[in-house]
Amino acid sequence: MRIVLVGPPGAGKGTQAAFLAKNLSIPHISTGDLFRANISQGTELGKQAKAYMDAGNLVPDEVTIGMAKDRMEQPDAVNGFLLDGFPRNVAQAEALDAMLDGEGMKLDAVLDLEVPEDEVVKRIAGRRICRNDSAHVFHETYSKPKTEGVCDVCGGELYQREDDSEETVRKRLEVYHTQTEPIIDHYKAQGLVVTISALGKVNDVTERAMEALRGEKAA
Ligand SMILES: [Zn+2]
Repeated sequence: MRIVLVGPPGAGKGTQAAFLAKNLSIPHISTGDLFRANISQGTELGKQAKAYMDAGNLVPDEVTIGMAKDRMEQPDAVNGFLLDGFPRNVAQAEALDAMLDGEGMKLDAVLDLEVPEDEVVKRIAGRRICRNDSAHVFHETYSKPKTEGVCDVCGGELYQREDDSEETVRKRLEVYHTQTEPIIDHYKAQGLVVTISALGKVNDVTERAMEALRGEKAA
């Protein structure tokens, strides 16, 4: 299956992408991984991307699209792939359509993870990270440390990352609404969008997604 995963920040997209790709035996292709791989391997596209990033600029769509195309042509993607973080705007979605079209391929589904905005803010703004180890993660509501402000694992001080502040989260949501959400309408016109709720336990969300994708495949 060829799937695009979309959803706002805080929807648990990366986690779901990993589980779904495993269940469907297809590679999980995330833009973050694409960038890291191309830059560390020193590919031509990686060099271009790095030059933009080092200058503090956004990487242009054609560079991202080129990396995605190279990745989708790898042998492990012959039976499909799950794209995560790409396309992130309508221009990229149109470029992806054209690229797949050129290869005689089509997307099977666009899986839209839905989370109410207030829940997104609560999920992200409630995160507390340990100063000693960023893998020690707690949450004000969902995973409280035994002592407020203190890491259960190592006793380190817990803090809120600047990226996780409510103000930053609201800004990221705004970018999502204006840039990424329009691709849902773009794909709705192609009858590809499957929307599921991303609330609840990780396993339940994965199961819900698998069921929705099976329905889509049968349709
Ligand atoms: Zn710690």
